Amino acid sequence: MTLDEVHAIIMKVLLKNGCDEANATAIADNMTSAERDHAVSHGLFRLPTSVTSLQNGKINGRAEPTLSRPSAGAVRVDGDRGFTPLAFKLGKPALVEAARTNGIAALAITRTFHFAALWPETSALAEEGLVALAVTSSPPYVAAAGGKRAFFGTNPMSFAFPRKDGPPMAFDQASSAMARGEVMIHARDGHMVPDGVGIDSEGQPTNDPNEILKGAQLTFGGYKGSAIALMIDLLAGPLIGEAFSAETGRADNGDGGPALGGELILAIDPVGMGTGSQVLDHAEELFAEMTGQEGVRLPGDRRLKARNETPTEGIQVPLSLHQKILELAEA
Ligand code: NDP
Repeated sequence: MTLDEVHAIIMKVLLKNGCDEANATAIADNMTSAERDHAVSHGLFRLPTSVTSLQNGKINGRAEPTLSRPSAGAVRVDGDRGFTPLAFKLGKPALVEAARTNGIAALAITRTFHFAALWPETSALAEEGLVALAVTSSPPYVAAAGGKRAFFGTNPMSFAFPRKDGPPMAFDQASSAMARGEVMIHARDGHMVPDGVGIDSEGQPTNDPNEILKGAQLTFGGYKGSAIALMIDLLAGPLIGEAFSAETGRADNGDGGPALGGELILAIDPVGMGTGSQVLDHAEELFAEMTGQEGVRLPGDRRLKARNETPTEGIQVPLSLHQKILELAEA
């Protein structure tokens, strides 16, 4: 498919299944950018479960997010139980303005469903010249260090830094050792997973993905990843008046779509740090020294390479997924 075809079919499916134009456009833009960058786990792959959640009424396809400013450096957007992209679209200009005015600012997005990758949000802010950090919680799939049951979400974080020429550096990673989708794909294909990915329902280490899906995943880096997952649960939960992962799971209808929750995004203006114009030059020195070593690349470079290729080459969509999406478009 071409990227234009991807965008068009997402719009058609969403408009037929309960979204209004504003919500559908924000979601289609997000999913298409994921396909453009070969971040396939957050592109068309998410469309069928998103439709399920629209159809059963869990997610509001006609959400009208609202914005408030509790303090000079804080922006809040209430997502009205819709998908996150439209809430971010509303909050971003206010966050950029607050960061430029104060040097640093935060955007709290509440009452939304985050189905997506986080780099589109941090990259969009870095393209405005800001340093950005985003975190969100997800339904509980991951044990806290030492624990035997799923407690944290796969709790991702993304960090983006502007570049002098070209798109920002942005990494984006879950705090679980393996992405949930990867564990499911191993189970589907009958493959074992490496050590350290998860535990069974008795809390025993296992390499069997089916047992992990019944038990719990583990964080990356042992107790250090668990601390990061805890931080994300706090930042995207209690700090902004939202549920933490375990709570989002308890409130969810278990339809396979995302759970209602929050996201926190921080933006720092390098100018506001008083560092002056050498910030980007100095960062470029770091990037150059780092990637000058054999075998070292910047996080995000795989995506940016794909971004250069897909506008002309298009993308490959698995036949079964394509068929499903066509059915949803005609339903
Ligand atoms: P990966 O482990 O695939 O990648 C994590 C990061 O590491 C990426 O930025 C990647 O860059 C970078 N990277 C990978 N290999 C290298 C390397 N050799 N050298 C330097 N950098 C490297 O991601 P995850 O599986 O942890 O997460 C996948 C996605 O899932 C994320 O986008 C995350 O936001 C999303 N997610 C969303 C959730 C939600 O609730 N909305 C929940 C959990 C995850 P590159 O892409 O260029 O390879």
